[in-house]
Amino acid sequence: MNDMIYFDNSATTVCLDKAAAAAKEYMLEKPFNPAAAYSAAVKTERDLNAARANIASKIGADPGELIFTSCGTESNNTAIFGSLKAMRGKTRVIISPVEHPSVYEPAMELKEQGYDVVFAPVDVTGRVKLDGLAALMTPSTGLISIMHVNNETGAINDIDGIYSMMKRLAPECLLHSDGVQAFMKEAPVSCDMYSASGHKLHAPKGVGALYIRRGVRVKPYLMGGGQESGMRSGTSNMPGIMAFNAAVEDYALNRAAYRERILSVKERLYGNLKRIKDVTLNSPPMGEGAAHILNVSFLGVRGEVLLNALSEKGLCVSTGSACAAHKRGRNRVLNAMGILGERQDGAIRFSFSHFNTVDEADTAAQMIEEQVSLLRRFRRR
Ligand code: PLP
Repeated sequence: MNDMIYFDNSATTVCLDKAAAAAKEYMLEKPFNPAAAYSAAVKTERDLNAARANIASKIGADPGELIFTSCGTESNNTAIFGSLKAMRGKTRVIISPVEHPSVYEPAMELKEQGYDVVFAPVDVTGRVKLDGLAALMTPSTGLISIMHVNNETGAINDIDGIYSMMKRLAPECLLHSDGVQAFMKEAPVSCDMYSASGHKLHAPKGVGALYIRRGVRVKPYLMGGGQESGMRSGTSNMPGIMAFNAAVEDYALNRAAYRERILSVKERLYGNLKRIKDVTLNSPPMGEGAAHILNVSFLGVRGEVLLNALSEKGLCVSTGSACAAHKRGRNRVLNAMGILGERQDGAIRFSFSHFNTVDEADTAAQMIEEQVSLLRRFRRR
């Protein structure tokens, strides 16, 4: 990756050396199944539970409240489909229209099955409007799923505020929050279920976690050998889990420094881009959204054309969620925010990690300026 500038860290991150070393250790030196009975396996099970306790502690949870999954998508699917029984006959499900496909598509499946799926209104940055959400919280509401940090704009939802509002207006309802873009980066929040994913945080792909508050009865999504206290069968992914734990520990130790570094890159890039004519900010104002996500539109340019031109120069960015990149049609998320027309067409998401530098922000801005003016010249001819 030395010859490229990687500004697509919301899609995935490079694996930390420490995380890769932990994975290697559990592949080559400690390949034991933690469910086996001999002493090496029992020791592996202890390591698994220590990793669980450590990761759970980062959101103020007990070890018994955290299960490991294969990814954020699995965590979200488990939370949504698994909650149906706990909804006890209630039929209303509330999500926001800007949820990641791994929440949106399960909600659409529930709609097909006859559930009353409704959308909480969002503002122009994708943040859920609390009064609009409150108006939807009827006694028939059984599940609310609202993301913590929006993956396209970095807007941060007030999950604590939503939870206390829900406790007042629909006390039997469950609140799930997709924390895939927020875990370790934002302060922990109160809710009934919370999803996280390792590869957004410098662990390898293939590991995630789901917090399920004690007392919340979620039906397992995968059944079989009864691993993860019966909540998620399948032999534990020890290399992935131990790597996830190493990445979480690294983030916990360096959180303030990483945040400062990431913010400085974001602010530098935006400061540079603002100087280009006809650039609009789709993220919340600087200082308000998540530090690692910046979404801007270059009016008069098609985002995917700019993305390809920048890719040729070694700059990796995105026009939206990688999971939706292969889907045709308009951008559902930007549509719901009211970002339409030229502004939607020219939207680009930049997302950062602590491996990025302000020099990269300067180089990237120069490349972008050149490509934008070239593309605008073609288009306006
Ligand atoms: N939720 C959000 C907000 C995301 O950004 C993503 C990935 O882009 C996911 C869920 C899915 O996570 P995973 O790739 O681990 O399945």
